[in-house]
Amino acid sequence: MNHLLDFEHVSYSYHSIDGETPALSDISFSLNDGEFLAIAGPSGCGKSTLLNLICHLNTPESGQIFFQGEPLTKKSICEIGYMLQKDHLLEWRSIEKNIYLGLEIQKKLTGQTKDYAAHLLKKYGLFEFRHKKPSELSGGMRQRAALIRTLVLKPQLLLLDEPFSALDYQTRLKTSNDISAIIREEKKSAVLVTHDLSEAVSLADRILVLSPRPGQLKRIILTPFPKDLSALDRRNTNEFKDYFNLLWKEMNADEEVTFRAGTVS
Ligand code: ADP
Ligand code: MG
Repeated sequence: MNHLLDFEHVSYSYHSIDGETPALSDISFSLNDGEFLAIAGPSGCGKSTLLNLICHLNTPESGQIFFQGEPLTKKSICEIGYMLQKDHLLEWRSIEKNIYLGLEIQKKLTGQTKDYAAHLLKKYGLFEFRHKKPSELSGGMRQRAALIRTLVLKPQLLLLDEPFSALDYQTRLKTSNDISAIIREEKKSAVLVTHDLSEAVSLADRILVLSPRPGQLKRIILTPFPKDLSALDRRNTNEFKDYFNLLWKEMNADEEVTFRAGTVS
């Protein structure tokens, strides 16, 4: 299988007048073409930093990142889309005009790209809402619109930084199910950052578990569900419980050691 992304011994620290904050240490992994990878780890362990390295907002202090076999450059980021916790849809623009935004910025708004936008809006149930303002849509629909705004630029790789954490529990389950189905249908690769363990197990093909800061790769957990199983259906399988327990144990191992040490002293 082809690698879309390779991290080789990547480390990163933030520098400020207060000193140095090591955020990531010696991270190595590969992302296969068409794969859905989740990054799980405690708050502050460097998950967002890792995504910022992939989209070249930060550059590694040491180590190297390769995209499609070539060292990652600013040019590579045209192939990468970013989806955040907030949908960042502009209220003064209609849904359709929001979806055109990236195309306008990249000077790619043509008849052809507008047709593609309309195709995606129809395929994913938002066409009849295209003239509405973002506030007239539900949270789940807004996240779908945000994803279409990214997909219309035809990225190879999608970076998702806790994109469902602002939604209520029920909407969150449904939206994560919809968004992952769209990503798989469009045959995109994805890196999802989440601290919700059940979300990671229900969406990903593999889960990278990071240690507390500075984030180091503790373990990679494989979650090989049948390809045609939706994120919601995954939750109803026996394997789901097994993978969840494995991930839970891995995530809580450090905490237990700290807790025990605290009890003894
Ligand atoms: P996560 O997304 O896993 O919660 P981050 O990648 O946002 O973690 O941050 C990792 C660590 O780096 C945290 O301890 C955070 O406080 C620190 N950090 C993040 N951004 C900056 C910054 N701009 N300057 C200094 N430290 C930062
Ligand atoms: Mg973060």
